[in-house]
Amino acid sequence: MSATILIVEDEPAIQELLSATLSRAGHHVIRADDGEHALRLLNEALPDLVLLDWMLPGRPGIDIARRLRAEERTRAIPIIMLTARGEEQDKVSGLEVGADDYITKPFSPRELVARIKAVLRRRAPQATDDPVELAGLRLDPATHRVTAEDRALSLGPTEFRLLRFLMHNPERVHSRAQLLDRVWGDHVFVEERTVDVHIRRLRSALEASGHDRLIQTVRGAGYRLSVQTGPQSGVG
Ligand code: CA
Repeated sequence: MSATILIVEDEPAIQELLSATLSRAGHHVIRADDGEHALRLLNEALPDLVLLDWMLPGRPGIDIARRLRAEERTRAIPIIMLTARGEEQDKVSGLEVGADDYITKPFSPRELVARIKAVLRRRAPQATDDPVELAGLRLDPATHRVTAEDRALSLGPTEFRLLRFLMHNPERVHSRAQLLDRVWGDHVFVEERTVDVHIRRLRSALEASGHDRLIQTVRGAGYRLSVQTGPQSGVG
């Protein structure tokens, strides 16, 4: 499993330990020393999960969690709170603002990795290596293979990520900006028409098996993967 994880922790030794543990588990790690730094990084790209220390200089972790949950763009990011205090009240407050789990310091590296895996599996299956199947289309992140009715398809790396995201989030319309955010991990430096180019390539890769019909253009809104391919469904 390889996810992008943002670590927000001000104590260098603990930040280092977290980072080493998660890197060893195969994750891509981004680090912030405080809440403001974390918000700047989140503004650039969305991680798959945030590991958030409770006690931070300036703005406390719980404020950051509350803010992430309040904003549309960051609402769905899984959050695991981290604290040195073992107080029950912290746990309750953390879960109340929408944290998905809670880890008390000192933590066991093995438990940390297991908890992260469990939260990702529950909240962000697109960040796990579990295969996903839909309408005869099967995508396996572990082997990086896509098959349509058991026939292998050839996809470029961006088309692969794009299809993976769409298959994990079917029947929902995604704007170009949202796709850049979630698939490219960047909504600032890539032009929106780049999305159209890769959607076109993805459709042509899916054409042979007829699965290109699943990728629908929703005028003025974005793209949607839908297995409901009725002629009057607003497809353009
Ligand atoms: Ca701290």
